[in-house]
Amino acid sequence: MNYYSEQISKLIEELSSLPGIGSKSAQRLAFHIIGMPQERVERLSNVIVEAKRKVRYCKCCQTLTDRDICPICASEKRDHKTIMVVENTRDLAAYEKTQKYNGVYHVLHGAISPMLGIGPADIRLKELMVRLQGDVSEVIIATNSSLEGETTAMYISKLIKPIGILCTRIANGVPVGGDLEYIDEVTLTRALDGRKEL
Ligand code: ZN
Repeated sequence: MNYYSEQISKLIEELSSLPGIGSKSAQRLAFHIIGMPQERVERLSNVIVEAKRKVRYCKCCQTLTDRDICPICASEKRDHKTIMVVENTRDLAAYEKTQKYNGVYHVLHGAISPMLGIGPADIRLKELMVRLQGDVSEVIIATNSSLEGETTAMYISKLIKPIGILCTRIANGVPVGGDLEYIDEVTLTRALDGRKEL
């Protein structure tokens, strides 16, 4: 039964397909958007289209950026011999906020999950291995402490050890199943300082 106009139903359907937005929130947002002035709606939709068009993966660390090489990879002030491996750009931002880490990053865009059918080839691991052919002295694995994050950490450490590069894992203290982006800066800094060799 279609209570609303077809356009509104379509809008609700699109919004409710976004993560964290249930059907009630989608309805509320849809009616809010319809009630907004025309130019604000156009600005919002333009921002979405432009962001999608301009944002791409850094050719080096794979983070999301609007340049070929992101500002962190391009910076001469960073220690390019230390690479921290994180699951996504939000985790990178969480560590950047602490201002305690001076190395560079590698963003996997996911974690290995046999249950969900996500294998090593489905995350940006190949790109990491290519970088390790350069001058790298330490790889710090900072994937989440979920089952997927731990599986990924073990997998990567097995690949790296034979190369002879120091491979460390951030300390526990990051709660199990906890997303890095929600953890406070003190805990993140402590986890980094207390990292152990794998
Ligand atoms: Zn980069």
